[in-house]
Amino acid sequence: MGKRKKAAKKPQQSRRNVPLDTAFTCLFCHHDKSVTVRLDRKEGIAQLVCRVCDQRYQSKVNHLTEPVDIYSEWIDAADAAQRDEPTSRPAAASSSSRPVAAAASEDSDED
Ligand SMILES: [Zn+2]
Repeated sequence: MGKRKKAAKKPQQSRRNVPLDTAFTCLFCHHDKSVTVRLDRKEGIAQLVCRVCDQRYQSKVNHLTEPVDIYSEWIDAADAAQRDEPTSRPAAASSSSRPVAAAASEDSDED
């Protein structure tokens, strides 16, 4: 039995110069591609803005940060903010409600 030679495939290095997607769907107004992320690596700042509803978010960037990272960060932040401040709930549950004593009127004996 002869040894089978392993077919050595060349690793495909397709280095296409695809521009990174920097436009995303807005969390708030749900417009497609209305949110744009700008990375200012020189300043180390990322700015996210929705051109439809004017939502803004700012974060720090490093050399590895991609626009999509800022976008997901924004989602997390918005999510956390929504949990932090409950939208003015009526405080109905906490009005000292004492159990209503069932008026036991056992007055039902028939003649
Ligand atoms: Zn928006």
